[in-house]
Amino acid sequence: MEFNKVLNDCKIYEAGKPIELVVREYGVDEKDIIKLASNENPYGTSPDVTKKIQTLAQNMFVYPDDSMYELKEALSSKFSVHSENVIIGAGSDQILDFVIKAKCDENSKMLMSKTTFAMYEIYGRQTGAKILKTVDDEHNLEQFEAMYKEHGADIIFLCLPNNPLGECLDKEEVYNFLSKIDKNTLVVVDGAYQEYASFKNTKKAISPSDLIEQFPNTIYLGTFSKAYALGGMRTGYGIAQKNIIKTMYKLRPPFNITTLSLAACIEALKDEEFVNKCIAKNFEQMKRYEEYAKNKGFSYIESYTNFITIKFDNKYISSEVAQQLLQRGIIVRDLTGYGVNAIRITIGTNVQNTRVFKVLDTVFEELDKEENL
Ligand SMILES: *Cc1c(COP(=O)(O)O)cnc(C)c1O
Repeated sequence: MEFNKVLNDCKIYEAGKPIELVVREYGVDEKDIIKLASNENPYGTSPDVTKKIQTLAQNMFVYPDDSMYELKEALSSKFSVHSENVIIGAGSDQILDFVIKAKCDENSKMLMSKTTFAMYEIYGRQTGAKILKTVDDEHNLEQFEAMYKEHGADIIFLCLPNNPLGECLDKEEVYNFLSKIDKNTLVVVDGAYQEYASFKNTKKAISPSDLIEQFPNTIYLGTFSKAYALGGMRTGYGIAQKNIIKTMYKLRPPFNITTLSLAACIEALKDEEFVNKCIAKNFEQMKRYEEYAKNKGFSYIESYTNFITIKFDNKYISSEVAQQLLQRGIIVRDLTGYGVNAIRITIGTNVQNTRVFKVLDTVFEELDKEENL
């Protein structure tokens, strides 16, 4: 059977491996498995969120509020924008899907960093758009600018901070770059980890309201999946000028956010203190990974997120390290598929990380032994 030919160039997204798979394939006891592959917040949500969900369990026969009035109000008040500037999606992934389809067809071009969030390219290819990537793995705005001048672009993606590497551009650099971009080019500012970046260094902080006011050709993306610990609820949002939001609405399926997801996000926004405590713990624990890497002589990318990317250069092969960890119940992300010899580890809790370091020691011993055979 023949299918839409643009799909020939499309790759299937590969998610972090779920705990159930490691139980099935490696026979590791479920309680011994540590999942540090999808950048979830390991401390979970505020207990108020759980309570709220329990009270709603009786109500599931009713369709959700498709206007999403309450969550939009909460987000617009948090970010000082109007609710007409907000669109909510099943993860910010769905916002990416909307925005790319709203802007691109087979004659379009998309510009992004070489090693960045995989879904930009995947959704882009679904439209038949041409994908342009910089040479450097990490965001390099000089390269972005040169390629933009040479080829032009319908959409530019800036992942601030960048997943899967962790680096983050300063707001000043970003604004300077944006001032050189044509009004008909849409710039997507993906702020999936902005809560972490702005906590660590205020120079990295991007205010969505200021961004879209100064640069009406931008859209800011946020998510409840990372700092807000609601990955299972699949909720994210886009903030942009009304004309952009209105166009994206044409692509939105009805009732794209469930009643439980809406309620969980509204509740989570009421307890910012909880989220901030999680972020503080994240950076305390991240220091341990930096120390560990230094002691072992590995380089790492300074991270403004809840994960750290450790490079093995020519010391080890990242896929082997990841596989050895997996067999011992620790799930991390191997970046070989991105062309980088590194693993990305989500920062876990104190107890989890202690175990990770122990198992990593065993893995490196094992790999050294194999090498000497
Ligand atoms: C996790 C992530 C998203 C989207 O997550 P959703 O769960 O779909 O909201 C978007 N961009 C980046 C860079 C991410 O890491």
